Amino acid sequence: MKVFLGGTRGSFPVSGAERSRYGGDTFSLLVESAGGDQVLIDAGSGAGRLKGRLKPGGTLFFTHTHLDHLIGLPLLQDVWPKRLVSPRGGLAEILRRTFSPPVWPVKLPPAEYPVPDEPQEIGELKISWQAVAHPDGCVAYRVDEPATGAGVVVATDVEWAAMTPRAQDAFALFAHGAGLLVFDAHFRLDEYAAHKGWGHSTWADAAEAARRCGARKLWLVHHAPERTDAQIDAMAEEAAAAFKGALFPNVDNMTETLNE
Ligand SMILES: [Zn+2]
Ligand SMILES: [Zn+2]
Repeated sequence: MKVFLGGTRGSFPVSGAERSRYGGDTFSLLVESAGGDQVLIDAGSGAGRLKGRLKPGGTLFFTHTHLDHLIGLPLLQDVWPKRLVSPRGGLAEILRRTFSPPVWPVKLPPAEYPVPDEPQEIGELKISWQAVAHPDGCVAYRVDEPATGAGVVVATDVEWAAMTPRAQDAFALFAHGAGLLVFDAHFRLDEYAAHKGWGHSTWADAAEAARRCGARKLWLVHHAPERTDAQIDAMAEEAAAAFKGALFPNVDNMTETLNE
């Protein structure tokens, strides 16, 4: 299994020299099986970085429909997915409202909009999900490749501290044994108290989740738009001391190979 991260930024895309190493594109992530089956999760502006690898006619799963996770959809016109999936439903109507005049001049190509209520199989990949704490709701996805035992869990927008102990236990069970956990690290530790209820976590929450899940590797993502490379460097040092497999992916380091 290979995992390709298109964007590490949260909330909205940013640019500039101070944010160039960790990048300014919002979240999009591609999972590919050894045999080439593909699952795309979310279509933030980082989808543009993935489209060179994406095959047309695939399946795109949405964690939720906040704008930073949809904004890259028009970039995918040339490799348009056949199925746009949201287990939470309502996706077709939300996308129709968002990508139509006078908000956006170009209609999205047609697609199927399944609303599955049980795990899905895309070739060699199995996709399951679980609700997490986030305003307007959100799911975390787990993508497994049973043939190799590889697994990745993607929890890009989640407020760990707002989850009850029972919900945290359920998440740990859901994510148990995944080699790679991709988790929300939007806030610095000193920022969180003033942002309770905003739906995001700190690197320390992510490290705790990774420990509870038994993950070997942890990718910290969804950085606050204002966060500079130097600030992320400082967080990365603390996080690596707290959890051995913690990594803040940067634009040169956004690919992981699991169990190949
Ligand atoms: Zn987001
Ligand atoms: Zn969100």
